[in-house]
Amino acid sequence: MNIAFIGLGNMGAPMATNLVKAGHDVSVFDLVESAIQSLEGQGARRAASAEAAAKGADVVVSMLPAGAHVKGLYLGRDGTPGLLDTLEGAPLLVDSSTIAPDDARLVAAAAAERGFTYLDAPVSGGVGGAQAGTLTFIVGGDAAGFDKAKPLLEAMGKNIFHAGEAGAGQVAKICNNMLLGILMSGTAEALALGVKNGMDPAVLSEIMKQSSGGNWALNVYNPWPGVMEGTAASRDYQGGFLTDLMAKDLGLAWELALGSKSTVPMGSQARNLFALHSAQGSGQLDFSSIQTLYRQGEEK
Ligand code: NAD
Repeated sequence: MNIAFIGLGNMGAPMATNLVKAGHDVSVFDLVESAIQSLEGQGARRAASAEAAAKGADVVVSMLPAGAHVKGLYLGRDGTPGLLDTLEGAPLLVDSSTIAPDDARLVAAAAAERGFTYLDAPVSGGVGGAQAGTLTFIVGGDAAGFDKAKPLLEAMGKNIFHAGEAGAGQVAKICNNMLLGILMSGTAEALALGVKNGMDPAVLSEIMKQSSGGNWALNVYNPWPGVMEGTAASRDYQGGFLTDLMAKDLGLAWELALGSKSTVPMGSQARNLFALHSAQGSGQLDFSSIQTLYRQGEEK
């Protein structure tokens, strides 16, 4: 298939690479030149703009930071036309960014008006899952579009869920990430408490992993440096899933709660923790760096 891939960051780059490896003809665009160059080295074709990448594509996949970028790409911004105004043919549109369900529904409705199918298809599994091609895709949109997208998504992921109508993928993803934010901050809190009381973080981690405190943040993405190889914590929290993006997702959970008159006290607490951590200068570090918030004042 001819695929246009827009947004080659921590997640998009390995996802696009897996599409190339699966034998697809992938045309790529990002605002950052070095990101395009790196994908070219993997066998993708460079495009000078998102419109150029999408020309002649069977499927457009986007992986952008937030809703404003996704709306800008598809609907246009400041008088500049969006992809929906310039697309030729009838490519399937798949957005894997994590954005507000209402933004996803807005783009889906605008796409449908012009005869295009747009799916919200956010992912879970982190950069490791993107590299290994084992992401979970959580898709919202019509069933026929889902069936069409599934074989393509299987080149990048292992578990492909149809969550429901447009926006449902984002609702499920936001619930998942609110839980992840709570679990990561709780894990960091428990580790800091144990270490301050004389425990070795690796020993404590192993005990909690085999006990009822075990969870994804502890078992797979340990936030304490040196406990687990290959994690962001063991490379100075570089790369991975940025604190700013986690703060954004917890903000989306908060907005969703306001709109549905739900109470999310744990999610609100986690949102404040990650927002504070970002305000203290850690927005561009991996979100597991929340561990350092609990280690302030430690003797060096
Ligand atoms: P990132 O910031 O690393 O990458 C985003 C990329 O989009 C950047 O390379 C940026 O230059 C590019 N970009 C921005 N606007 C653009 C535009 N108009 N046209 C072309 N390119 C543009 O972010 P990421 O970590 O790859 O995350 C992307 C999305 O996936 C976010 O919504 C995030 O919440 C979600 N997500 C991330 C992870 C993770 O572990 N990093 C996991 C699951 C979901």
